[in-house]
Amino acid sequence: MEKERGFTVPLRDHFKRLDPAFQHAAIGMALISLHGTFLQINSAFCDLLGHPRHELHSISHLDDAYSDVLTAIKEFGQTLRSGQLLSGTLEQPMQHLAGRLLQIKIHLHLILQEDGDPLHYLAQFEDRTPWMDIESRIRATETLLQDTQHSYHQLLEKMPLAVLITKKGIIQYVNPAGLRLIHAKDSSEVIGIPTSDVVDNSYHVALSERRKKFAESQALPTITYLINSLDGQQKFVDGFTLIISYEGEPAAVGVFKDITEQRQKEEYMMQSEKLTMAGQLAAGIAHEIRNPLTSINGFMKLMRSSKQSSETYYDIIESELKRIELIVNELLALSKPQGQHHSKPIDILPVLDQVITLMRVQSALKNIEIELERPESSLWIIGETNQLKQVFINLLKNGMDAMDAAGTIRVSARSGDQEALINVKDEGRGMTAEQIERLGEPFFTTKDTGTGLGFMITQNIIHNHGGSIQVESVPDQGTTFTVKLPMTPSPEEVQA
Ligand code: ADP
Ligand code: MG
Repeated sequence: MEKERGFTVPLRDHFKRLDPAFQHAAIGMALISLHGTFLQINSAFCDLLGHPRHELHSISHLDDAYSDVLTAIKEFGQTLRSGQLLSGTLEQPMQHLAGRLLQIKIHLHLILQEDGDPLHYLAQFEDRTPWMDIESRIRATETLLQDTQHSYHQLLEKMPLAVLITKKGIIQYVNPAGLRLIHAKDSSEVIGIPTSDVVDNSYHVALSERRKKFAESQALPTITYLINSLDGQQKFVDGFTLIISYEGEPAAVGVFKDITEQRQKEEYMMQSEKLTMAGQLAAGIAHEIRNPLTSINGFMKLMRSSKQSSETYYDIIESELKRIELIVNELLALSKPQGQHHSKPIDILPVLDQVITLMRVQSALKNIEIELERPESSLWIIGETNQLKQVFINLLKNGMDAMDAAGTIRVSARSGDQEALINVKDEGRGMTAEQIERLGEPFFTTKDTGTGLGFMITQNIIHNHGGSIQVESVPDQGTTFTVKLPMTPSPEEVQA
């Protein structure tokens, strides 16, 4: 409210001159007496409140119709006068002739006589209803937004899964379950540190692969990490990441579940299956080792009787020993507990070669050939060599078990659309629909000495590598397993 100069010119003349401006003003206006009655109104006032314009000339009934507004104006006017003020604004609801209530802002000016005494009020009526509508809608939206934010926050805080938000690899937020996961007392211990401090070194390759995908806005598949909690305890977590906007910048929300216990159980099962497998292979291996031993023995005898050594004998003995070493090493590798996991880029072809070397020992006993059809270039994937070996040992062993007669198991590897495809095709007895259905169920076996764990483990390993496995089988003709694993650029490509 500001103090201003009143009108000092002879008022009647003044208003005569102002009359057209008053009448045709775009905003509703009225002259109101000091004791609160309408003296004059303009056409915009009629329009605003829905009165026909001929009422401009007979306005006495308006005093009754708007008595509450006039009372409010009179009271407000008195406050103005007692504060020596000439103008101010007040808000009042006013009823439109059609019935609806309008929210009106009234700008009230005190008009003075020449001698400085108050004469009457000039009031301008501004319809705030549309604004009120917008304002209340904005307020409602703000409340809704706050509620939503609050609910999300509550959801994150109460969630039993660990949630963390990272920006450019730096932790911005961790929920209570996340703090428990990494044994932090409160969030100040983790906010601001890079995720690579929490994720174990052995998973840094996987982590940076993921960052690259994130930067290229590619969809991020679910992932397993080995993490180090703040007190050094190691845990396995499984999770997924979403890309969101956090404080105006792109960020990643990771949701993780502690799978350490589950992993330990799987590991335990895997180990017992490996030992069973090693036991089953041992017979074949003993047989396989006997042959080179026999020939070494023979050459030694020859060398002793001829009293002179021949280079050729040494070469043969050496290569036979190498073969024994190879087989024994593979057997040991198979039965060795996994211990540390090291995901790194590996070429799948040497892995297949090594597995086939080991399995040929066994298959030869049954007159089964194992053939490998290789692609022209290497197939690089990210994974753990020993686990992948186990996948193919399981598949080849099952293929061999299914074959009652001599035949061939064909392994072929090729690159598909961003993935490595490996087929293992046997000529065995095949599977019924019901058997296919139950495949992967723990302890499902049709064999007297079977464990029914092999395929489940195979599936788990492939899943942990972000891949998939499919089966096609025709009874009495054979079965084909197709393993798909996501490919990664070869290390040379990465360096280039
Ligand atoms: P196990 O080999 O100890 O029986 P697996 O989990 O490896 O356990 O396999 C489960 C079952 O699936 C086998 O007992 C067999 O009935 C069936 N199976 C798996 N692979 C093949 C295959 N290549 N041909 C025919 N049947 C198969
Ligand atoms: Mg098996």
